[in-house]
Amino acid sequence: MTLPVATLLKVDARRSGLRFARRVYLPRIVGMGFSFIFVVWSLADTPSNWLIGLLFINGFIWPHLAYWSAINTKDPMRSEQRNLLLDAVFGGVWIALMGLNALPSTLLAAMMGMNNIAANGTKFFFRGLMLQLAAIALTVLLLQPTINFATSPQQVYFCLPMLFFYPIFLGQVIYRTAIKLAQHKHKLIEISTHDGMTGVYNRRHWEHLLHNEYDNCQRYQHIATLLLIDLDHFKTINDTWGHDLGDQALLRVTEELRLRLRTSDIIGRFGGDEFAVIMPGTSSDKAIQAISRVRDNLHLPGKGQAPTITIHISVGVAEFSPKMNNYRDWLKAADVALYRAKNAGRSRTEVAKS
Ligand code: GH3
Ligand code: MG
Repeated sequence: MTLPVATLLKVDARRSGLRFARRVYLPRIVGMGFSFIFVVWSLADTPSNWLIGLLFINGFIWPHLAYWSAINTKDPMRSEQRNLLLDAVFGGVWIALMGLNALPSTLLAAMMGMNNIAANGTKFFFRGLMLQLAAIALTVLLLQPTINFATSPQQVYFCLPMLFFYPIFLGQVIYRTAIKLAQHKHKLIEISTHDGMTGVYNRRHWEHLLHNEYDNCQRYQHIATLLLIDLDHFKTINDTWGHDLGDQALLRVTEELRLRLRTSDIIGRFGGDEFAVIMPGTSSDKAIQAISRVRDNLHLPGKGQAPTITIHISVGVAEFSPKMNNYRDWLKAADVALYRAKNAGRSRTEVAKS
């Protein structure tokens, strides 16, 4: 059953929201835990038990509550963004209750700013900052804590663990995310340039490489040969023994091309049962010898009811000529040669006339 595109997009958005919530979870546990240590020692007025209780809840229970609430909503991304803004508001309240004490207040604002900018960028950072400033102003107005900017040496010491560990910890989280992104990018490049079934280059990328090779040959008077390979009566293999065996035959051809040709030869699948190879630094004579080595070994071992099958191929060969106007001319020459090989009875190699 295929799901409608809108549903698939929703599922994908939820997944990325869950990943986001997971990414924020640990930094919040660490940040809030360390904050408890220095905020409790920096409160401007002697704290009541309920205030310490609230600080404890914010420091040690809120991170788990925030995560739990985010992963249990339909839209974890939005929910987690709301939680980050709530962090900024809570931070504003504590900054006011510390009497705007210079070091711990800056430290708390910096920690939340780092979280917000790392999670959602500059615009989100400013939204958090605005909310934080509003929370500071409102708390100062309503609760009127004693304002004292001076930080005592003892309070400096309580800030040190956070000052040292938090940036390192966040750096580690960002580094891990960057590595994951690089891996994703690598995978995407692989998918966009390779044929999913055989693992050789797909047509689009292969043509791009042919274009490069054509330019090299023109500029530096290199030689190179191009081969187009098409399986003979492949439909019959599919129709007689099934698509699975047809797929095995395509894989067998790929394996043989990889095994018998040079590593510098560039193999691509043109789609269906057609392959193409660029042989840099190779004359057409040498290319014909190489492909006949491949041809001699194209057997598919018998399996179940299917006997051992010999796969036959027709090949069109075209050596680069400086007279060609562009790489398409080169491709066309090999294609015409392949057409001739098919018309002349198949299972043979034809060379383009220069
Ligand atoms: P010819 O000798 O003229 O090349 O005859 P042919 O039967 O090989 O004909 P053609 O090359 O035109 O047909 C290619 C066939 O390859 C058609 C399609 O059913 C089959 N095919 C294309 N892609 C795949 C694939 O990924 N797996 C399998 N098993 N078959 C495929
Ligand atoms: Mg064919």
